[in-house]
Amino acid sequence: MDRDTAKEIILASLPNYLAQKGINISRKFLCMNPDHQDHSPSMCYDRRRNRCHCFSCGCDADIFNLIQWDYNTTSFPETFNLACDLFGIDVDERKEKPKERPKIKPAKHGRTRISEIKKAEPEVCDKVYTTMQMLSPLTATDMKYLTEKRGLSKERIKKDYMRMVTAPEDRKKLIRKLIKLTGYTKDTLKYVPGFFIDKNTGALDYSGDNVPSISHGTNWCNNAGIGILIRNVDGQAVAIQIRRDTASKGNRYCWFTSIFAVDSVDYDGGSTPGAAKDIIIPENPQTCLCITEGRFKSEIIAANRNIVISIQGVSAWKGIDEIIKKLREQHEIKSIFLMFDSDIMGNRQVFNTISDMARTIMERIPDMKIKFAVWKIKYGKGIDDCILSGNLTRVKYVDAEYFMETCNNSFDMLLKKYGVKSFQKMKSEDRKIFGKYLQEENEKRLLCKNKKEANPEEAA
Ligand SMILES: [Zn+2]
Repeated sequence: MDRDTAKEIILASLPNYLAQKGINISRKFLCMNPDHQDHSPSMCYDRRRNRCHCFSCGCDADIFNLIQWDYNTTSFPETFNLACDLFGIDVDERKEKPKERPKIKPAKHGRTRISEIKKAEPEVCDKVYTTMQMLSPLTATDMKYLTEKRGLSKERIKKDYMRMVTAPEDRKKLIRKLIKLTGYTKDTLKYVPGFFIDKNTGALDYSGDNVPSISHGTNWCNNAGIGILIRNVDGQAVAIQIRRDTASKGNRYCWFTSIFAVDSVDYDGGSTPGAAKDIIIPENPQTCLCITEGRFKSEIIAANRNIVISIQGVSAWKGIDEIIKKLREQHEIKSIFLMFDSDIMGNRQVFNTISDMARTIMERIPDMKIKFAVWKIKYGKGIDDCILSGNLTRVKYVDAEYFMETCNNSFDMLLKKYGVKSFQKMKSEDRKIFGKYLQEENEKRLLCKNKKEANPEEAA
């Protein structure tokens, strides 16, 4: 049979492939995209398009995508040949054929819920991660990047930064030393996020090069990069965030995780840091708390003696009120400053998420003053860009209620002005343009008024 006919037959075999995996295609099933750790069924088979679609991560897949995911093939020819073998299809010009016909893998049924995934105690993680840090110093290039590009002090770098060593031989060496220095057994270490036991060899290992990725973008990722220790309220290093050396856009940062090992037949142990919040408490801190997104922003803010909580992704704020309460037990905190990217004034999605967070804090900690830090986007998108370019004096601090009310009012006004009936149904192109107008309008209302309001001294 020729290749085109074979391809047609394979494409048409998608429902059959799913059925052979034990999937009932009349219902939703667990997403098969390895980048998506689906813990409740969100993928369905679309008969009309003969594709699988996931409503949670948005991926869309034909049978070749599924086979690539199931067998980790790296090229189309390889996937195509494997598909031929799976369905017993003879293609004319193919010379090499496997001795044994491969089997269609059964679908995964159920995964451990995130909340039920075992994780080593914070003390254990702290000891393991700080020992790792001691064993893998930064390179000269890393140092240059952190000091020159990010403006970090030598002390801060020494406390929280390391090089992630990823090559198999280097990992083996590091793990040997780690076991010796920490005194922990393999069975304790396998539940430290990032670590797992390979069942084939029985050896303890951690995510290095070519680990299955849980972030979007690529199926496989390489964890080589700068490791950043993420500390909890008690100062314990409970997670490592990695700034990868090489990454596609939006894929630069990842967690040091071994969640892929949790429900896998090939591994034992494995764990995830979850949505760990990152807390920096400087020496002799001032009486305000800043909340931002991302470590390099919080570094700049903390350098001015502010306590900072950084969330990784704006939607990862849940539980922040508990952290604030805990911080207040140890430090005098009079007010909270929210320092998110300046495009919060034009990006409704970010605005809504952060507004929810602000409202939750107001509700649960009613005696706390909350303000938004706002500045014109032309002075820099992030607070770090704004400060590093010497525009700190341009930053205004606006009462949270007033900020949210103003932004909502200008949003409603612009919807009316441009006759937009549903913002949700707007095309993404139009939404971008609308966002630009919204940003301008909010900057005008919040920053150009001659309202003389003294900036609080304690901020940034
Ligand atoms: Zn998905």
